[in-house]
Amino acid sequence: MVPYRLIRSRRKSVTLLITKDAALEVRAPLRISKKEIDRIVASKQSWINMHLGKAKEREANRTAFSLSYGDTVLLRGREYLIVARPGVKAGFAECGMCPGSGAADIGYMEPLDRLSGCGSDCTLNSAPDRAHIDLGNRGSTVLADRGFICLPPGLSPEEIKRSVIVVYRSAAKQLLTGRVAHYAKQMGVVPAAVRVTSARTRWGSCSSADSINFSWRIVMADDDVIDYVVVHELAHIVEHNHSDRFWRIVASVLPDYKQRRQRLKVLQQRLSNEDWG
Ligand SMILES: [Zn+2]
Repeated sequence: MVPYRLIRSRRKSVTLLITKDAALEVRAPLRISKKEIDRIVASKQSWINMHLGKAKEREANRTAFSLSYGDTVLLRGREYLIVARPGVKAGFAECGMCPGSGAADIGYMEPLDRLSGCGSDCTLNSAPDRAHIDLGNRGSTVLADRGFICLPPGLSPEEIKRSVIVVYRSAAKQLLTGRVAHYAKQMGVVPAAVRVTSARTRWGSCSSADSINFSWRIVMADDDVIDYVVVHELAHIVEHNHSDRFWRIVASVLPDYKQRRQRLKVLQQRLSNEDWG
């Protein structure tokens, strides 16, 4: 039998759960016998094996998670190719234009139509929604969905991850400020403050003083999903709970919020396999 951690308390039923570190935990009433608990655990063997297997796989993926040039990262639901660009500050570049040196500001860049080709070691063929990049001396050809995240060359995987997070935070600040302003006006609410945090398990939160926080991780979601999180937190200014009234407010702004919330869960699942610190 799979070893398990037993926690007894004044509860009425036995519950099995798989912890984040891929272990089995059994919560049981004070008076039930060990033999009976073993019997219950044995009867759930296939459920346990399946979920333990998944949890172990996620844990292994998280440990192995590492970013290198040529990998892609998500921004607003699209994949961006990590490219090395000498003399360019870290930032996202949209569209099929070549991210040229000196043209990029730090942080988030909206469509960079102004950029001209940089003539460095990449060749680009732009199509409406796709950029085709041949990464010079790496010799690999990768299809990226529209954009790049440009970083200085020579960074270690850990430095790449940290740089990408800096860019994500900047993107989050800019994007969320705009979306909050838009929906706050529409919903007739005024947040006391809007902050970007590093929260791991919450996409957003609203304090009792109506200050709203968003995890920078939310910028990986597509715009419809980001808007759902924004509207959700703004609705908490009116209803500091998840009552029917609260959900009616959310639905009045975004009638399809349930689909958006479902897509957020898909992203959550992807992120449970990635260790962003
Ligand atoms: Zn909520």
